[in-house]
Amino acid sequence: MCLFCKIVNKEIPGNVEMESENFLAFHDINPKAPVHILVIPKKHVDSFNEVSPEMMAEMTTFIQDVAEHVDIKESGFRLICNVGENGGQEVNHLHWHVIGGAKLRFPHLTDADPKDFL
Ligand code: 5GP
Ligand code: ZN
Repeated sequence: MCLFCKIVNKEIPGNVEMESENFLAFHDINPKAPVHILVIPKKHVDSFNEVSPEMMAEMTTFIQDVAEHVDIKESGFRLICNVGENGGQEVNHLHWHVIGGAKLRFPHLTDADPKDFL
């Protein structure tokens, strides 16, 4: 069973912030900003590549509710979904990072020289 399925099953603690029938929002163990929450489906899905549009639609509403619940909806936040190896996905259970609570930087994301992208 994957790490996040264990959090869903309460086999390991998850510091849960919000829960619905099909989704869970819990605090990232290594926060990158004052608010850093992970939103996952309770049903295991490997990554964004496999999620159905129906599940994603339902998850969209849940993410909006989470942002409102932790009071970052108006001030703004960032959604990140790392996908696969190049995306830097470390846990193979679909999750959205919901990050906010401060003005976020948008740094270069690779070691390559940005001039090479032009
Ligand atoms: P990824 O790199 O797969 O997009 O993000 C995985 C995230 O899960 C990382 O931000 C990491 O800090 C977080 N994480 C890893 N293990 C645990 C854990 O056991 N509990 C919680 N709450 N977060 C975790
Ligand atoms: Zn899982």
